Amino acid sequence: NEKNSTDEEKVQVKRESQPAIFIPVHRSSEIQEARLKLPVLAEEQVIMEAVKENPAVVICGETGSGKTTQVPQFLYEAGYASGIIGITEPRRVAAVSMSQRVAKEMNLSTRVVSYQIRYEGNVTEDTKIKFMTDGVLLKEIQKDFLLQRYSVIIIDEAHERSVYTDILIGLLSRIVPLRNKRGMPMKLLVMSATLRVEDFTENQRLFRTPPPVVKVDARQFPVTIHFNKRTPLEDYTGEAFHKTCKIHRMLPSGGILVFLTGQAEVHSLCRRLRKAFPFRRGHSSLPRIDLDNYSALPLDEGDEDREAEVREEEEDNDDEGSDLDLGDHPANSGKIQKEILRVFRSPPPGARLCVVATNVAETSLTIPGIKYVVDCGRVKKRFYDRVTGVSSFKVTWTSQASANQRAGRAGRTEPGHCYRLYSSAVFGDFSLFSEAEITRRPVEDLVLQMKDLNIEKVVNFPFPTSPSAEALVAAEQLLVSLGALKEPPQMERARLSCPITPLGRAMASFPVAPRYAKMLALGKQQDCLPYTIAVVAAMTVREIFEDLDRPAGSEDESQKLTQRRARLTQMKKLWAGQGASLLLGDLMVLIEHVCAYVTAGAVGACEFAGCTPKFCEENGLRYKAMLEIRRLRAQLTNAVNAVCPEVGVFVDPKMTPPTEHQVVCLRQIILAGLGDHLARRVQAEDALDPKWKNGYKTPLMDDPVFIHPNSALFKTLPEFVVYQEIMETTKMYMRGVSAVEAEWIPRLLPQYSHFGSPLESPSPWFCSTTGTIRCHRPSTFFRVGWQLPAVEM
Ligand code: ADP
Ligand code: MG
Repeated sequence: NEKNSTDEEKVQVKRESQPAIFIPVHRSSEIQEARLKLPVLAEEQVIMEAVKENPAVVICGETGSGKTTQVPQFLYEAGYASGIIGITEPRRVAAVSMSQRVAKEMNLSTRVVSYQIRYEGNVTEDTKIKFMTDGVLLKEIQKDFLLQRYSVIIIDEAHERSVYTDILIGLLSRIVPLRNKRGMPMKLLVMSATLRVEDFTENQRLFRTPPPVVKVDARQFPVTIHFNKRTPLEDYTGEAFHKTCKIHRMLPSGGILVFLTGQAEVHSLCRRLRKAFPFRRGHSSLPRIDLDNYSALPLDEGDEDREAEVREEEEDNDDEGSDLDLGDHPANSGKIQKEILRVFRSPPPGARLCVVATNVAETSLTIPGIKYVVDCGRVKKRFYDRVTGVSSFKVTWTSQASANQRAGRAGRTEPGHCYRLYSSAVFGDFSLFSEAEITRRPVEDLVLQMKDLNIEKVVNFPFPTSPSAEALVAAEQLLVSLGALKEPPQMERARLSCPITPLGRAMASFPVAPRYAKMLALGKQQDCLPYTIAVVAAMTVREIFEDLDRPAGSEDESQKLTQRRARLTQMKKLWAGQGASLLLGDLMVLIEHVCAYVTAGAVGACEFAGCTPKFCEENGLRYKAMLEIRRLRAQLTNAVNAVCPEVGVFVDPKMTPPTEHQVVCLRQIILAGLGDHLARRVQAEDALDPKWKNGYKTPLMDDPVFIHPNSALFKTLPEFVVYQEIMETTKMYMRGVSAVEAEWIPRLLPQYSHFGSPLESPSPWFCSTTGTIRCHRPSTFFRVGWQLPAVEM
């Protein structure tokens, strides 16, 4: 029966995807007029002919030339809407706002022109044009490899080289010919704001015949670039403030667009500007006095727009770095939409438009009326530590290509000016282009996703830019060790074709990195899931504790800080508990804090609504981080419930601390996930070397690593520990440490263990050639320790 229906569908798609019917669109004259000014309109015919003749077409055009808003309309009008016309965006903000704009331009309801982002959307049965994030389409490919509901896929913003975009292009280079072969024609369009598209067109593995490139010539007015003379300052937000004030006071009318790196900076600058130029309604007759319409354009790089929901008084330039690529918080999108609308609205007469934005305004959204650009020259990027594999957000210099894109925003409607808050010498040192993200990060999560798509030989996958073979091997090995992939009996390493296991499939469905996904998959045992979720959430929020090592401004402050440090360290010891729970170490501290915070929050909600920030203050926690954890817990709980509904976890409003029994179980779950982050205290003979005193040996490093004095386990020094990451400050310190028992290692990490006789390998425990950990404790090998029930998923 099911087969029949798909056959029927195929026939239908086949019949309908012949572009024949011209669908008239009734646009208002105002819209029509604005459209005709867009450079892409002049190329409509060239584009449509290229699409007709070729399965894949690349379109390059300057930002603002009308690619995103117009190309879907061309296709719709030319009759390609037999199936859905899908457009992917790397940013959620773009997906939401573009769908609304196109619906408005076409005079169609959002039932027909819709969007879908991770946890929300307005797609209906009538949807013909669908904007979505690239991650959403990737998930859909997992369900239906041929994407049968779509007649066209447009990959937008391909120049950003986001990982998902790259993978989608690789997948679609196979899906499109497959569809065409099966008589269900499909078109692929790749749109880029730069001309640098050789990775897509000249990559032999991707497209056998290189797709044609249609170039859209945009009218661009000259932009005068002004560099800073001085060496760039650390305080570029302050510098941006002064520059913006100066422009507003001295220069003729025209919008100002300021590029900063993160949501916190954006809000802080907006606050300062608002204070400096208070908006007084009714005073707009005074020309250029009121700097109005400040808009903090929300960026949405995973973490960032979740944060937008929380506006706080305190100034905090920390980012809310988080490992998770989670979707949106529904509460956010209304706000995002409002803010976007505000950006596109012209300011009241006499007022000047000033938009403070992050990278999202570089190419995704074109804000009209900008004449001045203030560019801090930096960008917030996710960095991955090759050793620890843990990611963090860091602010770095952007590329020359990006800086030029930013400058270009000033010359859309008339000649403009770009003020770079850095010197020309620094600009000269920028890299020419931003690298493809895929070459900068570990790929175990991608490899797992691809295996879940039944792509066994990831090494043969047509990546536009391939990750290094080294990174692929490392990913595959880690996944094998986590049990997500099965090692074939005689794995030839070079072939890299381990099949996915049922556990791997379950892990692939959690929106967290594989190590944490493994913990979630195991966590359902012994009612540990709520704690596992709390630990995973807490571990993925970068820093939950207040920074006590921050430099103090004055003697007085320094003294206070010392006192505070002492008190909070004392308190942390209490949180870490005693006996069994102490061995869970820093993660126990995390759990206890989450439990306590949650309980305080539950009280706060009904009685003392303000008590939660106070609770954080008293306990040395960062309030924002705790809010973030709360949201992540809810999202992870949903994700787990979706995978195994029979478990039925819920976010416990009053989480009680885990029992001793559960603590042991949690330690094992953590070991199972962080197995490759195992460290062993040095043995007596090594300990003679002062360098190794109290040191730990890890499989990946030659030098010792240490337990931080702030850690709950600093005094305990257990023999075996697992750690979340290693941070180098004065020494190499492990963070997020918990103790594990030696006898668990062969049981939970047999892949790292060696069961031979101790005589076979005199070296203490780590074999650097095979990467196995030899734990020779014969007497414990056969002892029945705590046993984790088998995982059935
Ligand atoms: P591209 O994708 O080539 O960068 P777009 O299609 O995004 O160009 O933008 C084309 C034009 O549409 C721009 O001038 C932009 O200002 C305008 N535009 C986009 N969204 C809106 C909106 N929500 N309201 C008003 N104008 C918009
Ligand atoms: Mg665009």
